[in-house]
Amino acid sequence: SCTNAALMARRHAAVARGVGHTHELFVQRALNAELWDVEGRRYIDFAGGIAVLNTGHLHPKVIEAVQAQLALYTHTCFQVVAYEPYVEVAERLNRLAPGDFAKKTLLLTSGAEAVENAVKIARAHTGRPGVIAFTGGYHGRTNFTLGLTGKIVPYKTGFGPFPGEVYHALYPNALHGVSVADALKSVETVLKNDVEATRVAAFILEPVQGEGGFYMAPPEFISGLKALADRHGILLIADEVQTGAGRTGTWFACEQWPVAPDLITTAKSLAGGFPLSGVVGRAEVMDAPAPGGLGGTYAGSPVACVAALAVMRAFEEENLLARSRAVGERLVKGLQAIAAKVPAIGDVRGFGAMVAVELFEGGDLKRPDAALARNVVTEAARRGLILLSCGTYGNVIRVLVPLTASDALLDEGLALMADSFAAMG
Ligand code: PMP
Repeated sequence: SCTNAALMARRHAAVARGVGHTHELFVQRALNAELWDVEGRRYIDFAGGIAVLNTGHLHPKVIEAVQAQLALYTHTCFQVVAYEPYVEVAERLNRLAPGDFAKKTLLLTSGAEAVENAVKIARAHTGRPGVIAFTGGYHGRTNFTLGLTGKIVPYKTGFGPFPGEVYHALYPNALHGVSVADALKSVETVLKNDVEATRVAAFILEPVQGEGGFYMAPPEFISGLKALADRHGILLIADEVQTGAGRTGTWFACEQWPVAPDLITTAKSLAGGFPLSGVVGRAEVMDAPAPGGLGGTYAGSPVACVAALAVMRAFEEENLLARSRAVGERLVKGLQAIAAKVPAIGDVRGFGAMVAVELFEGGDLKRPDAALARNVVTEAARRGLILLSCGTYGNVIRVLVPLTASDALLDEGLALMADSFAAMG
């Protein structure tokens, strides 16, 4: 029988337990910002497949483009027989990326693969091995990206040894007592005590940490990091796998930086639910690896490329960047109203439509409350709202709702969040 419970039992018997699950649910179908489980129950989707559905489930433009592509070809391998959609995605990403310099693009499949390749390219260009990443950062589950990731449980537990030449400095986090000055000083400390600057190829950071808890690196930090980078010939890589494709109110979050990064990684919402990732950056850096040095069998799948072009068209035709800012404002206002009644909500923050609340026992900023975050997420699902938690302390509830959700649906979701907090007593 097709119940959630029966399917979960099959899942537990057949699927490795390391593949975690947030909800005891199996989907039947989904549309825009709603989904229905195999028992016919409706949910509002505030998770968006972890930031993959900025244009919603089954966006009509995406589905139309993919269906048209399915009648032509689904795979040739771009390195064997090329196809135009790959080139067009590259051309468009080159135009979308900030920075007054020529750019080139490499397409891949997953976010981790984009990060891996950004580091390969930075090493090829600089001839240096070192990479400096940041505490609380998340960059993926492959061995190298796990090395970059700045959180042990659950990602790194039991999976070492991790690659050499990866160093971690502090990410600024005012709420948890790390100032911009502290963070910049920690970078200098790494360069003094751990690795000489002439051996460092790149700094890599998320403009807003995603899995780490929706913390933003302030502009002064970026300026300071860029000054260090320029002084020592180090490249700056923005990992925009979660922040990109319009989530923060600009196509790339780093458009809001005071300086442009040399390389940007992108994935998730780029192709509206199809697997596609990329590295975009300075042409001379991107061209450092020799022909044959980059690629992959499925990298830049034509089906995913036409989906990405449809996503970009949807952003233009439906004004989704403005919508991203409006969704963020509406969510922040709604969450502030909830926070006024819930002392445990110690912070409400939004960067465009990348919105979160952070929970503390009794509102005491020294006592992060992961259990409450877990319980609210579970209660919300019981009431028909899919939420996600995140954060170094596990005490952040984040919203990554499709930007195409109506105001009425956002308000319905916010009301379910309010009810879920109220039910905690
Ligand atoms: N970088 C960041 C900033 C991410 O948020 C993620 C995924 N959560 C990744 C890299 C890895 O992406 P993927 O899961 O597609 O490999």
